[in-house]
Amino acid sequence: MNTKFIFVTGGVASSLGKGVMASTIGRLLQNRGYKITIQKFDPYINVDPGTLNPNEHGECYVTVDGYECDLDLGHYERFTDIKTTRWNSFTTGRIYMEVIDKERRGEYGGKTVQVVPHITNAIKENMLRTSKDNDLDFVITEIGGTVGDIEGLPFLEAIRQLKWELGEDAIVVHLAYVPYIAAAGELKTKPTQHSVKQLQSYGIQPDCIILRSEHPLSVDLRRKVAGFCNVRPDCVLHSPDVSTIYELPIRMHEDGLDEVILKLCSVSAADMASHSLSCNNDFNERWKNFVDLRVSASEELHIGFIGKYNLQDAYKSITESMSIAGTYKSRKVKCHFIDSEHITEANVADQLKGMQGYVICPGFGDRGIEGKITAAKYLRENNLPTLGICLGMQIMAIEFARNVLGYADAHSSEFSKTTQHPVIDIMEEQKNLVYVGNTMRLGGYECQLREGSKAKTAYADEKIVERHRHRYELNSIFIDEMESKGMIVSGKNPRSGLAEIIEIPANHWYLGTQFHPEYSSSVLNPHPLFLAFLDAVLK
Ligand code: GLN
Repeated sequence: MNTKFIFVTGGVASSLGKGVMASTIGRLLQNRGYKITIQKFDPYINVDPGTLNPNEHGECYVTVDGYECDLDLGHYERFTDIKTTRWNSFTTGRIYMEVIDKERRGEYGGKTVQVVPHITNAIKENMLRTSKDNDLDFVITEIGGTVGDIEGLPFLEAIRQLKWELGEDAIVVHLAYVPYIAAAGELKTKPTQHSVKQLQSYGIQPDCIILRSEHPLSVDLRRKVAGFCNVRPDCVLHSPDVSTIYELPIRMHEDGLDEVILKLCSVSAADMASHSLSCNNDFNERWKNFVDLRVSASEELHIGFIGKYNLQDAYKSITESMSIAGTYKSRKVKCHFIDSEHITEANVADQLKGMQGYVICPGFGDRGIEGKITAAKYLRENNLPTLGICLGMQIMAIEFARNVLGYADAHSSEFSKTTQHPVIDIMEEQKNLVYVGNTMRLGGYECQLREGSKAKTAYADEKIVERHRHRYELNSIFIDEMESKGMIVSGKNPRSGLAEIIEIPANHWYLGTQFHPEYSSSVLNPHPLFLAFLDAVLK
């Protein structure tokens, strides 16, 4: 079978869950034994989201090969366990940079460089790229933004051309919204019709329309949409409200999504049969069991997130990893945001009360830092289960140096240029950089775990690989002293010797990681550190 290309566009409004739908399509095709990847093309000018404020754009996700990318790639990985790379995430900025670089090198041979064909050709090439390197059955491509946005046009033009060139190997799935107008007591399809008309005006006919709606959709309503939008009635599907996003593959399968896609891609019955034979159906069962467990878990577990960005999207992978791990412990995890800017010595007990476990969150810049340090002191002294991630781990080290080693001015050189005790210091290769974009220590690095540590018990492994995103590190000149006073380095990079994990063995669970475990946690493979943390919380 040729590789098939599925393009996912969105209409009517943003935030309809295009990323989750693309992930759902991927999961359903995997369940049938197909090899897939999912990629995202975003219309904004930033070359990647690495320089974006998480409050504005949500978390920045990091691939194993060290690319800073859109948080939807986190959904792709959590749903499907694929490992995305730098070739799964593009923005307008990155495409333009590629084209302009080429122009500067004189590679266009004196031609006028234009949006069509040069930008659209670069988009097309990159849309096809993942399929060339891997032996894939399906490439699912999500287009960021909403149809009709000016900046999305070159991507849609690229899809129009590819659909023409690839014929039956390419389809477009359009996700739209059907609102309920209470005054009329009716569901309205007009916004969907308009968004499809808009798509058609760019020369793209969607093959499948998925209607997002909180209400059940009648056969008549689906038929009406089909009739107005030139789509077969059985190719108009419903994306309902679900109690957890992980239920969506089950609901969409019931509505026939995978069957419709295979039909639209002209996959033969023989091919389907041969794939389903090779398919590990265990996936399906495990997924259903997970969702059952998640829906039935009623006992709540309250985890406090000490940070400074909003909880909705800025720490998406951490909150998802935590709640996934919670499901495996038959608990409903409730994540509570505790704004570190509001924490003081005087109110810390009050600010942190009512939680069963705590995460000290990653971050950049000095806003809210003292509040985090005050919280870390309280959590350490009161022996409360605490997980520090990246900046959170650095905070644990700074607090320990201040209050246990007695260096009152201990700090990270990110926040204090004058401290005599830079417990956290800039890495050598991070000094004197011209560009801030994509220059951190990024992606997967090895970590050797220390015998007898909580980290090693959690992983039940000697050596692990975890993803990074930071410029500063634990300053090795303080390690001996820290260890002699009770805070040990329980994970180290075997080559550079950089500290990767710290913990206090005497405490119930007080552990920080320089890396981001949340980037490699998925529904079917919950992360060992999150599981171990919750074990500690439950004990
Ligand atoms: N700001 C810190 C550093 O650059 C931590 C980064 C993070 O939490 N991702 O090292």
